[in-house]
Amino acid sequence: MISFYNSLTKKKETFNPLNGKEVSFYTCGPTVYSYAHIGNFRTYIFEDILKRTLLFQGYKVNHVMNITDVGHLTSDADTGEDKIEKAAQTQKKSAFEIAEFYTKAFFDDCQKLNILPPNTVAPATRLIKEAISLIQALEKKGFTYKTSDGIYFDTSKFKDYGKLAGMNFETLNQTLKAGARIELSPEKKNITDFSLWKLSSPNEKRQMEWPSPWGIGFPGWHIECAVINLKYLGQAFENEKFFPEKAQTIDIHAGGSDLIPIHHTNEIAQVEAATGKKFVNFWLHGEFLILKDFKMSKSKGNMILIDDLKKQGFSPLAFRYLTFNAHYRKPLEFSLEALKNAQESLNNIYDFILDCLNDGKIETSIKKETDVKFSLPLQKIKEDFEKAIYDDLNTPQALAVFWKLIKDYYQKEFNPKETYLLALLFDKIFGLGLDKIKLITPSKEIQLLSKKREQLRKEEKWEEADKIRKEIEDQGFFLKDTKNGTLIKPKLNIN
Ligand SMILES: [Zn+2]
Repeated sequence: MISFYNSLTKKKETFNPLNGKEVSFYTCGPTVYSYAHIGNFRTYIFEDILKRTLLFQGYKVNHVMNITDVGHLTSDADTGEDKIEKAAQTQKKSAFEIAEFYTKAFFDDCQKLNILPPNTVAPATRLIKEAISLIQALEKKGFTYKTSDGIYFDTSKFKDYGKLAGMNFETLNQTLKAGARIELSPEKKNITDFSLWKLSSPNEKRQMEWPSPWGIGFPGWHIECAVINLKYLGQAFENEKFFPEKAQTIDIHAGGSDLIPIHHTNEIAQVEAATGKKFVNFWLHGEFLILKDFKMSKSKGNMILIDDLKKQGFSPLAFRYLTFNAHYRKPLEFSLEALKNAQESLNNIYDFILDCLNDGKIETSIKKETDVKFSLPLQKIKEDFEKAIYDDLNTPQALAVFWKLIKDYYQKEFNPKETYLLALLFDKIFGLGLDKIKLITPSKEIQLLSKKREQLRKEEKWEEADKIRKEIEDQGFFLKDTKNGTLIKPKLNIN
């Protein structure tokens, strides 16, 4: 039994898919005008843990993600420039080249972080006809109005607008006004109204624009996610045409908590206005990554990329590990110190896996099935782990259980093979690449060097001994001095 905190109902609820064992799962993807930063990746890692937990439980997950390659403006108020067109101008590339480049960069980083790829990745520019059809349906139902620069959604017409943010229409309007995140353009009826279709300005030539019944232009950011949800999960399109009666409710929609008041609120308004049905059953939102006292933001230029971590000698998986230290609904403070600790913990976990392999003479080709019959103490640890992760993805608790396994392995001398298999089972959720760790037998030459070093140490010739240690390390191994002599272990080079 899995329970999640549902942002829509504001309480923890038992999760059951609407359709047997298959879960329809949507996550908001990146706007591909620059690199995603580690703050963004905290959200993608949380979503990956969510997906892995569903898979672990035996569900089939149909995961869909959009790529925003058009229509995301520099201001949330439907004003300002298109982020991708702007990047194209400054980088002297075409808008399509920009989108392609940063989409690839995004998935490369995801791979480094061991984030499982979605079943379907949908760039918004491939669904222009569908977007137009959905806007027409909203128009027909009287939810839209026209201004000099586009077609807008009239949020005052949608009952329960703002329910995801826990507010009614008036309070959400007032909050946004007070927060001054949005300026009211003179033609907009309400501050919360948003563009469905933006008309290209007569003074500029856009690279990405399409004809529509309202004139040449491009879709708004919020309609993109609505369309992609309804097409790939809601099954409401046939030959690019929208059929509201076909629409199905989606099991889970996830994203960063910053998307609640505007983007996700607007997704709900569009879909439920168009279909008359509930859009999503479970909404899950991840909290921010905090750099000391400020939120990381691309506009402030204080963002850290996955590549920056690598350049400083950290494994991207150390960052992945770091994010498990806080529950996904709590802000996580990022610091170099915390990352160092995470890297050290990760190294210790890898070392523990090597010990299991070594102690149990385990061939890494052994079957890694999930239905192993564990002996009682291990079975208990497994149950504690499942209890933690099924309770709204409590990764700090799950991690504590994992460390208990490691501690007990050494103290209580658990069976190495069973322990190894249980660790791999946990890693189906953690995704730290433990299954890739292999025992590599050091060459005769390295074994001889190690013996020589031991001799030198006995003779207290520390400097010479250290030289040899370095020589061995340069060949991809490291030495661990134990009471039973020196162990030669392969250095881990994951990523
Ligand atoms: Zn979205």
